[in-house]
Amino acid sequence: MYIVLLAAECAPVAKAGGLADVIHGLGRALQATGAEVEILLPDYDGLKREWIEHYRLIRDDLTLQLAGEPLRCHVSAGRVDGLNCFFLNPRSEQHFFQRGRLYGEPDDALRFAIYCRAALEYLHQSGRWPDILHCNDWHTGLVPVLLYEDYEARGATQTRVCYSLHNLGYQGWVEPELLGALELNTERLMTPDRLRESPHGARANLMKGGIVFSNVVTTVSPRYAWEVLHTDQGRGLQDTLASKAGRFLGVRNGIDTDTWNPRCDPSITAPFDADHPSAKAVNTAALRQRLGLCQRTSPVLAIVSRLDRQKGVELMRHAIRFSLTLGAQCVLLGSAMESAIQQDFEQLRTELAANPNVHLTLGYDETLAHQIYAGADLMLVPSLYEPCGLTQLIAMRYGAVPVVRRVGGLADTVFDAHFCHRPAEQRNGFVFDGATLEELEFALERAIGLWFQHREAFQALSLNGMRMDFSWREPARRYLKIYDEIAPRGTLK
Ligand code: ADP
Repeated sequence: MYIVLLAAECAPVAKAGGLADVIHGLGRALQATGAEVEILLPDYDGLKREWIEHYRLIRDDLTLQLAGEPLRCHVSAGRVDGLNCFFLNPRSEQHFFQRGRLYGEPDDALRFAIYCRAALEYLHQSGRWPDILHCNDWHTGLVPVLLYEDYEARGATQTRVCYSLHNLGYQGWVEPELLGALELNTERLMTPDRLRESPHGARANLMKGGIVFSNVVTTVSPRYAWEVLHTDQGRGLQDTLASKAGRFLGVRNGIDTDTWNPRCDPSITAPFDADHPSAKAVNTAALRQRLGLCQRTSPVLAIVSRLDRQKGVELMRHAIRFSLTLGAQCVLLGSAMESAIQQDFEQLRTELAANPNVHLTLGYDETLAHQIYAGADLMLVPSLYEPCGLTQLIAMRYGAVPVVRRVGGLADTVFDAHFCHRPAEQRNGFVFDGATLEELEFALERAIGLWFQHREAFQALSLNGMRMDFSWREPARRYLKIYDEIAPRGTLK
């Protein structure tokens, strides 16, 4: 089976968050089953080139039409952790992918629309269409639209599309002129059952287009699939998703257990695993030393997160102050896009600067993230909504016990130490329901209290988490089954 993954991110070369981990981890897991996997990415100036083997220009003559004008596109190829990747670079004075960051530009919609067109044009001109195009998030929503409206008539008759929604908070609402610029039929597409955002709305919704035109739609956990169909988490797309009937389902994300492996992680001080957990304490001491925390007998509560409203930033700030009063030490590694949020955390950092039990790092740091997972006793994920969440899965692999809100994928993967019907060996964390300070405090009191008062019971939770299988093995098997179900009979090998 020939599968092409399309996304705006792929770890470790272009990562802003969990989407990057998913594309890398799923790609590797699919490839391990014998499938032929390729990944098509924008050729960002910020690509971590040190992770790309044999990076080379393979085409300099790919030409697209944008608003009636030809746009030349370079295509480079290389291998990233054993995966064949292609990097698309539209050549223009607008320097679409030379902006120093992946997203957050005023013309993001145009940038990723061009990426979609370039990806399909590249596949078309290479003369070999994949069995499956697996598209991800709003950035790639136009791929199935273009495939159906344009490339099917030009020979792409056997290719099927699986479209995965990683976050319905970002749907890609755009002016309909964008469709015309890509030579799509705006009039035909701007109907409420196709791309029009709503019956009375004027904009096009790229994610909606992706959902309507794909053969199957997935999201990243069963609980989030339910939430987007039955609560306001659907953010206007409930009916569109409901209309997919049996062709919309939740498949929990996995983590790449080679990338995230405390037994042989080059970023951490001492290797450990569920059979040899005692070395975790060495990593905790090293973390304290790196961040200037005092060495003492107390749990380390950590947060590793984008600092976005979705992630519960107010709850995070309260949790830090409150956990300090309970005798814990606190470590935060967070990157903010919104300046107001950045300022709030800078202020908290200044307030706590003299406290030797807390350290806030504002920015993105992959190595420090690994060291925090390895050293932390507790990992807080207080999200307002969370499609899947990888931090709690990575935390568990490194023996850090998660404290999470019961939403989305957090509800599917974290089972409370005290309030849960599951057998003791399946309990792995602390869960609270409401996004309130009271409920957060109660969960933190239970977690930090257990660490101080019943260390063995706490250790058992940590080991339970480490022993759980959150790898990509099972989710990749499910995706293969989904691909197989949408394939034209007899085409997949
Ligand atoms: P999201 O994709 O919504 O940001 P996930 O939990 O799915 O959240 O994935 C987060 C990923 O990004 C994890 O691999 C986590 O370790 C990483 N991450 C988040 N913030 C940072 C940061 N500031 N520095 C380093 N890694 C980070």
